[in-house]
Amino acid sequence: MRGLWVLLALFVAVFGKETFEGQQVLRITAVNEAQINLLKELSANEDLGLDFWMEPVDESLPVDVRVPFHSLQAVRAFLGYHEIHYEIMIQDLQDLLDEEQREMMKLKAQPRSSDDYNYAIYHTLNEINSFIDMLVQENPGFVSKIVIGKSYEGRPLNVLKFSTGANRPGLWIDTGIHSREWVTQASGTWFAKKIVTDYGRDTELTSILKNYDIFLEIVTNPDGFQFTHTSNRMWRKTRKPNSGSSCIGVDPNRNWDAGFGGPGASSSPCSETYRGPYAHSESEVKAIVDFVKSHGRIKAFVSIHSYSQMLLYPYGYTSTPCKDNAELHEVAGKAITALKSLYNTQYSYGSIITTIYQASGGTIDWTYNQGIKYSFTFELRDTGRYGFILPASQILPTAQETWLALMAIMKHANNNPY
Ligand SMILES: [Zn+2]
Repeated sequence: MRGLWVLLALFVAVFGKETFEGQQVLRITAVNEAQINLLKELSANEDLGLDFWMEPVDESLPVDVRVPFHSLQAVRAFLGYHEIHYEIMIQDLQDLLDEEQREMMKLKAQPRSSDDYNYAIYHTLNEINSFIDMLVQENPGFVSKIVIGKSYEGRPLNVLKFSTGANRPGLWIDTGIHSREWVTQASGTWFAKKIVTDYGRDTELTSILKNYDIFLEIVTNPDGFQFTHTSNRMWRKTRKPNSGSSCIGVDPNRNWDAGFGGPGASSSPCSETYRGPYAHSESEVKAIVDFVKSHGRIKAFVSIHSYSQMLLYPYGYTSTPCKDNAELHEVAGKAITALKSLYNTQYSYGSIITTIYQASGGTIDWTYNQGIKYSFTFELRDTGRYGFILPASQILPTAQETWLALMAIMKHANNNPY
């Protein structure tokens, strides 16, 4: 009988969906540097299998960590012994995921048009790809699909292009480069529909589209996204195997050739922030690099993540302010004011290194160094109550408020051509 259970466990491990039963997400509040250092020690212990949603950096920001059931006792004992304060943010992660699955099953009838599509629930990769094709079909001469490359597992890297004339400079938006940040792909889908709805009706957007093409990559890490649906909802990285390690994947937001290999990225393939063997080693990253270079006139680049409600600009790899720091700060301020006007959602903003932490090899540091002045990164809702498992009821408000901030950035670019 016992052998049977072992076999069953093995079967689930190999073929099934990873379960998160009994796993908790803790919010830890360190009060001094000694405690931060203890948390860093904890994060270096790979046996515990901890997944830091917010890494320990300094006392100014809380640390969020997902703790596997088998490590809960040890982690709590460690925190208790060192008198480090923590709260349980998510009591049982699997309960939240079960709820998320129930929500996804709602109104799943095959949409016949993009008007039918349910923007208020989370969708699979196939559903989003069908949506993209529908939108292109419905808007000939305005919306097209460009395949900028292939993922490691051979999936097309689809980019929507919104264009009202030939050879315009470009504005770029991507969502979902970290696959588990589901509210970002869902928001990206809503943005696509919003652009076709507002073009010709909204004066600002119509003016923007008279001068620029908009490029939107909704599922920037399709292998990872597929994996979050089939196997492990908590998957963040790409899905490329690493030679000499059993751990899979590279952090595609540490893989860019901007301070590559510096502090704030890991050299360990098992880390969630593994930078990869060399810059642009990931085809999902390289495809964007090639696209940006060959296009040559991308004027704004916005890369969208979740969570923590922040709007960030370069740099992440160095504390030297970028030369447009003052202007980017002003633009970010305008953008978060617009965002806040809808639901009073509070954002913080600033350069990556001053607002969150030092991170090297990040997307927008590379795009900025390529001469794309208006380079920004969003961290969407929330501030940690649900983290990556943001309830579907928050998709529409998140997308709507974020759109106002995106419009503020695009408007600024439109009024300040360079
Ligand atoms: Zn992210």
